[in-house]
Amino acid sequence: MTIPVETAPGVRPYPPRMSAFTKPFWDGVAAGLFRTSQCDTCHKPSFPPKPVCPHCWSNAVSWIDLSGRGTLYSATTIHAGPAVFAADLPYRVGIVDLPEGLRLATRVLDDSALDEAVELVALIHDDGPLYGARRLSDHG
Ligand SMILES: [Zn+2]
Repeated sequence: MTIPVETAPGVRPYPPRMSAFTKPFWDGVAAGLFRTSQCDTCHKPSFPPKPVCPHCWSNAVSWIDLSGRGTLYSATTIHAGPAVFAADLPYRVGIVDLPEGLRLATRVLDDSALDEAVELVALIHDDGPLYGARRLSDHG
């Protein structure tokens, strides 16, 4: 399943560090694929993607595609943020539970309510991709 890909204005205020290991994740986001690492030994996924399984310490991991949909578990609005995010204030962040058993922290792009179904969306800035969550639009 792919996630929506949308153009976002300007450059990312605090670009994520990209490593040789995380490059496939960010390349996937840019292409509308939301994926993570899954252990080849115990078969548990983890997020963010990791080169070593946090459950059994195996270093044999593979990439899996996630649905890119979930439920908003928690959210808050940031009114006084770090200087680098000043242009975005106020903005919302939250925690999304994914059906794959993962929980991730992300920007929340709208006023989604707690326990509401949300989708992840790729945001393509001038200097690279980010992602955020918003209310699931098509209920499909
Ligand atoms: Zn494992």
